[in-house]
Amino acid sequence: MPSDSTQKKVRLVACPECGEPSEFSPNNPFRPFCSERCKMVDLGIWANEGYRIETPINSDDLDSEALN
Ligand SMILES: [Zn+2]
Repeated sequence: MPSDSTQKKVRLVACPECGEPSEFSPNNPFRPFCSERCKMVDLGIWANEGYRIETPINSDDLDSEALN
């Protein structure tokens, strides 16, 4: 096995979201996150896209549904 002394050392950091090692370099546009998903989750974008809550449920709605 060749020595890795000639290879560029890749700096790895723990992804703030999932804790997995992520490459901290221009190769990783999502740094310090490991992936686009983790970056979006951390920013709250992912949750907003997937689970959009339009209006809060109030007690009147709950009552009328229970009667039906
Ligand atoms: Zn991650």
